[in-house]
Amino acid sequence: MNPTSTAGGPTLPQVRRLVTEIPGPASRAWQARKHDAVAAGVGTTLPVYVTAAGGGVLVDADGNSLIDLGSGIAVTSVGNSAPRVVEAVAEQLSSFTHTCFMVTPYDGYVRVAEALNRLTPGDHQKRTALFNSGAEAVENAVKIARSHTRKQAVVVFDHAYHGRTNLTMAMTAKNMPYKHGFGPFAAEVYRAPLSYPFRDGGLSGAEAARRAIDVIEKQVGAENLAAVVIEPIQGEGGFIVPADGFLAALTQWCTANGVVFVADEVQTGFARTGDLFACDHEGVVPDLIVTAKGIAGGLPLAAVTGRAEIMDAPHVGGLGGTYGGNPLACAAALAVIETIEAEDLVGRARAIGTTMKERLASFGDPRIGEIRGRGAMVAVELVRPGSTDPDPELARTVAAAAHSQGVVVLTCGTYGNVLRFLPPLSIPDHLLAEALDVLELVFKDA
Ligand SMILES: *Cc1c(COP(=O)(O)O)cnc(C)c1O
Repeated sequence: MNPTSTAGGPTLPQVRRLVTEIPGPASRAWQARKHDAVAAGVGTTLPVYVTAAGGGVLVDADGNSLIDLGSGIAVTSVGNSAPRVVEAVAEQLSSFTHTCFMVTPYDGYVRVAEALNRLTPGDHQKRTALFNSGAEAVENAVKIARSHTRKQAVVVFDHAYHGRTNLTMAMTAKNMPYKHGFGPFAAEVYRAPLSYPFRDGGLSGAEAARRAIDVIEKQVGAENLAAVVIEPIQGEGGFIVPADGFLAALTQWCTANGVVFVADEVQTGFARTGDLFACDHEGVVPDLIVTAKGIAGGLPLAAVTGRAEIMDAPHVGGLGGTYGGNPLACAAALAVIETIEAEDLVGRARAIGTTMKERLASFGDPRIGEIRGRGAMVAVELVRPGSTDPDPELARTVAAAAHSQGVVVLTCGTYGNVLRFLPPLSIPDHLLAEALDVLELVFKDA
């Protein structure tokens, strides 16, 4: 099959259809070429080679149609090749592809900044700067916070994931595979304990915040601390939803102590959690919010948005990058925002979350220690029955079996024992139900 011959988008047949084993011969041939051509460090979770995608399916080089519960790691929330995105990007593509906003600017960048200033939590004056990746935006949030506070330390949390660049590796918690052998890491990064209700003995949000603040005050000191950076719901760390009030107490402490509170909403943003941003759920207003992944329907874009007086601290020329806010990515982002609003994807995310949690609970499987998440960001933490002992082998077994049945799922978590589900919000109900049927069978067999 000619990989360019299949049109993607929501008009692709919305079916799970396996015509070969997974991965099939064409994908295996590509994987052999990948092995010889691509650096070994770039791993692949499920090496089916995709030729088209849209709605809730991925079609591979063998003609298999798989149900997508991963969205390319929470990126294609509006769907792959979503119609408004395709149209907007095609139009931009035929006008111009790049000028560099720092040289000769264009309106798409300004429009995206205006939209983010309008949509992110809080009605204070805001500014936005655009970048290419989540990690790059997190780094810039730290630069901005340091410039504004004239302090240096950064506090992050247990199980955190903020990226793979040098500074963000230091901020990411997990050694394997993200950090191992790649040191030395950036200085002035400190780690505080998170609220992890399943594993911290039922500490309330306020108690967990007090525990974290105690570590921060004793080991860092507010007078040295530029920023607290936190994912409002952790992504790679295991879809950990902190106890109610944890985030609010941290923000209050930051405000009282001249520390910039940065929400890393790279994975949680853009309707994924059933709010436009996860902070909205608790009424938390971060000083800076970092967005990426779901922002542009698959085109590379990231942003830092926040209080004007903080964002404007760096000197002119201090922020930027060749491609940051690329015109194609900006056109895509504007189309994503339009799609979220026009199709009420916030409501759709909530409905998907309700369906998934009910079905997963109905499995009644004692190895599912907790079902958690918010909206269409749902996970199950797998344990040995009757305990909280992590069972990463079960997570691997279930994921592999789901893959072989044509359902794309991902694992995560510090202990590798969390199965996570991030369906595109464009997935039709019948496919979501079928994916859950497959998961139920796979759990029974495992
Ligand atoms: C994926 C992710 C990042 C890094 O984003 P990249 O675009 O891969 O650099 C940062 N923070 C969180 C919470 C993420 O999920």
